[in-house]
Amino acid sequence: MSARDLGRGPVVAIIGGGFSGAATAFHLARLLPAGAADIVVVEPREGLGYGLAYSTADPSHRINVPASRMTLISGQDSHFADWLEQTGAILDDAEAIAANGALYPQRRVFGRYVESYLQPFLFGKVIRHVRSAVASVELSGQGYILILADGRTLAADALVIAATHPPPALPSALRSVAAAARLVANPYDLGGLQAIGRDDQVLVVGTGLTSADIIATLDRNGHRSRIDALSRHGYRSRSHAVLPGDPIGDFISLPSRSATVMLRRIRATILERVLFNPVHILRL
Ligand SMILES: Cc1cc2nc3c(=O)[nH]c(=O)nc-3n(C[C@H](O)[C@H](O)[C@H](O)COP(=O)(O)OP(=O)(O)OC[C@H]3O[C@@H](n4cnc5c(N)ncnc54)[C@H](O)[C@@H]3O)c2cc1C
Repeated sequence: MSARDLGRGPVVAIIGGGFSGAATAFHLARLLPAGAADIVVVEPREGLGYGLAYSTADPSHRINVPASRMTLISGQDSHFADWLEQTGAILDDAEAIAANGALYPQRRVFGRYVESYLQPFLFGKVIRHVRSAVASVELSGQGYILILADGRTLAADALVIAATHPPPALPSALRSVAAAARLVANPYDLGGLQAIGRDDQVLVVGTGLTSADIIATLDRNGHRSRIDALSRHGYRSRSHAVLPGDPIGDFISLPSRSATVMLRRIRATILERVLFNPVHILRL
């Protein structure tokens, strides 16, 4: 299955069609001259642009960054918010508007936004969506052979890996209860959450944004009993500030060589600019 056989340009294979893979395909398609490359996204999900975060079918799962800060096009911060207005995608969703006026649409809506920009390229066959998972990759001369889970192979000249989040799995510390009938190991298994009775007591392991999703789903299902949540660090997922703040610090013009270095710089900036600054302390 090589596009070179079809007389097209070099094959760029992208593994994963979540936001990262879809955005890479979109920008390659719009920036490269027509026919310069055959862009192939290998993604088992039905649509491109959804990935783990934006494929949830639960309407109570919302984006956790305001719409005005999520965009497919760098430098056009309002691109998604403008799309929402132009398409009327949240006209019938009063809960999308937070008390501070920021927009938090259902997460699937963001996936639809990304997909809508890929669609013309998919129709024009500039981008191809191969619906499968990549099982392994082999080097082949200057290029690659992708072996797909369904047994097909794909020859590629360039490879982009955008598989990002692994599928949710049970942490090793909880393997002893793996066979328990009332354990929901995959937090996005909406059927499993649906099976929890309204009066069942629930223990959620973890208190990050995924736990917020789970609690929102239980709430929507009418759950009314006790929910305990366990956190290693004693934190809960926090709500957004009532007043939007301006971003602080510049972490881009002098790039960090690793994520750890960037994290140290971010922490140092917070200490210097926020915690040691009396004006900020007053605002906190
Ligand atoms: C629950 C949740 C909510 C989030 N909410 C927000 C938010 O509101 N705002 C925000 O800015 N960020 C949010 N994020 C962060 C979010 O992860 C990133 O914004 C972005 O969606 C990451 O996209 P991705 O394409 O890198 O990864 P993913 O979304 O993980 O996509 C990876 C894709 O690769 C595919 N894949 C994996 N393995 C293979 C394989 N072997 N072969 C082929 N395909 C494969 C998967 O099917 C998947 O579709 C959230 C994250 C999560 C988990």
